[in-house]
Amino acid sequence: KAEVVFFYSTPQEVEKLIKPRAKFSHKGTYGHALLIAGSYGMMGAAILSARACMRSGVGKLTVHSISSGLPILQTVLPEAMYWEVLNDDKFLTTDFKIEDLNSRFQAVGVGPGIGVYEETGISLIKLCRLCKELVIPMVLDADALNIFASQFGDDFTNEIPENSILTPHPKEFRNLVNQSWNNDYEKLELLRKLAIQNKLIVCLKGANTAIALPNGTIHFNSSGNAGMATAGSGDVLTGIITALLAQGYSPDEAAILGVYMHGKAGDIAAEKFGMTSMIASDIIENIRF
Ligand code: AMP
Ligand code: MG
Repeated sequence: KAEVVFFYSTPQEVEKLIKPRAKFSHKGTYGHALLIAGSYGMMGAAILSARACMRSGVGKLTVHSISSGLPILQTVLPEAMYWEVLNDDKFLTTDFKIEDLNSRFQAVGVGPGIGVYEETGISLIKLCRLCKELVIPMVLDADALNIFASQFGDDFTNEIPENSILTPHPKEFRNLVNQSWNNDYEKLELLRKLAIQNKLIVCLKGANTAIALPNGTIHFNSSGNAGMATAGSGDVLTGIITALLAQGYSPDEAAILGVYMHGKAGDIAAEKFGMTSMIASDIIENIRF
């Protein structure tokens, strides 16, 4: 019997995953997320991912970013709390301690706009080790993936906790696996291998984002449009998935539902603004859970 590997879920199937908001709930019910994003000149990425996170149902959000970015963040997103980097004002160099994270956060998202600095790489490894120890689910995106690819080479997966969600675009994916492919089948086989061998959820972004699960199945997303091929789109996705993890969705569900809802928000934005004119902020404004 042939093994079924590929799935293409209908909107109805995916939307069924959405948990209803309980009447007697409070913000503690929906988790506290930590988003680590931004560096000098890249604060927009932090803002986009943070706003998308708050629009996706998280109870509370703390953003960890550089001091000089703080006034900007607090102005555009008063709903979030901030934890600033104390020892540098251009990029992240935090010596993460167990007490920074323990019993505080239900999910950690890291990567949008953090830059590819060696010192940030050291901080990132500390963060990953703590999340592994404390079993805090993680989303790794953008420069977090670029740091792994450039500083840790082929052994990069050793430090990433099992069941983490990785959200590379094709170029980030190519650098991560450090291999090229001749056709889509080879590409999807590399994706599957990365997910199975390291027990990771890997979302290879693009039209019909392919989500590989640790069990080796690949789930193609049905929503989204070419208007989302615009700067900041991916940062929005990181915020959405981080919010879902904080609310207690399993990593598999958070990835599949998050990618779908991101595409759906993009489709609503495209109706309002047109694919050519829409920008990443419009995706955030049209997130509808
Ligand atoms: P990033 O490159 O990190 O900003 O991520 C881009 C985001 O936009 C991903 O979520 C992609 O799936 C989405 N995206 C980019 N191009 C397209 C496209 N042609 N059709 C649908 N979604 C797209
Ligand atoms: Mg990106």
